[in-house]
Amino acid sequence: MADEIDRAQERDEFFRSLALGSRKTESFTGFAAAECIDCGEPIPKARRVLVPGCCRCVDCQADFERRSE
Ligand SMILES: [Zn+2]
Repeated sequence: MADEIDRAQERDEFFRSLALGSRKTESFTGFAAAECIDCGEPIPKARRVLVPGCCRCVDCQADFERRSE
């Protein structure tokens, strides 16, 4: 239950920051993995731009952070 709420909040924050930051970060090209290192799914360009150096999709990053707590 709490996990699902955490995940929903993370998604909300992610999409809100996308909406707020998309103009600013549009032209930024930082290094980030094209595919999630955990599940192999392509990481959306918006996330790679927003989180330079990220190597996991949103779902796996949430799982990873939960595991490492
Ligand atoms: Zn993943």
